[in-house]
Amino acid sequence: MLMMKQYYTGPLYVNTYLVYDNEMKKAFIVDPGGTDSGMESFIEMNKLNVEFIILTHGHGDHIGGVEAYRNRFKAPVYAHRAEKEMLASPAYNASKMMFGNGISIIADKWLEDGDEIAFGNSTIKIIHTPGHSPGGISILVNKWLFSGDTLFAGSVGRTDFALCNAAHLFNGIKTKLFVLDDDIEVFPGHEGATTIGQEKRYNPFF
Ligand SMILES: [Zn+2]
Ligand SMILES: [Zn+2]
Repeated sequence: MLMMKQYYTGPLYVNTYLVYDNEMKKAFIVDPGGTDSGMESFIEMNKLNVEFIILTHGHGDHIGGVEAYRNRFKAPVYAHRAEKEMLASPAYNASKMMFGNGISIIADKWLEDGDEIAFGNSTIKIIHTPGHSPGGISILVNKWLFSGDTLFAGSVGRTDFALCNAAHLFNGIKTKLFVLDDDIEVFPGHEGATTIGQEKRYNPFF
């Protein structure tokens, strides 16, 4: 059975998610903002094999732990193709400002909208939701949606950073996320969880 744990990592306490199957001993990590949580010891204690690290987008607060975990777990990094520039540039991804040392990342696999990734008995669906960043994705696994900084409980991602596009953000949420089932649980990059139904009804931005 698929399980999930949430951790706070990095300088801005981003939500990092560990999705795992304890019988199959497989796991994947969403947005490792840093290595400063109890996630690593949980992975070791449960002898989980990290199959990949997946990034909802390339902002500095979401990527501080990527290189350490890519090396530590020998796990490939997945990100959307349109996020190449953001991940590569410490100026765009603001990592220089956040960490002093800039972070520049090249993914091992570049994803596209509609891509499907097999994980145990589940299929992970990649939904391209740009706007907060060009290659922002929402990741659908069974009844869970990891929405990055695109959709929040009662809010939406900021569009006042480099490479943002507000029209893309609102269009993506409306046409690609609000068409999903109401009972899908949404796990954003910051703060608490919500559901698609809740946001469709009560999100003040729509
Ligand atoms: Zn962001
Ligand atoms: Zn963020």
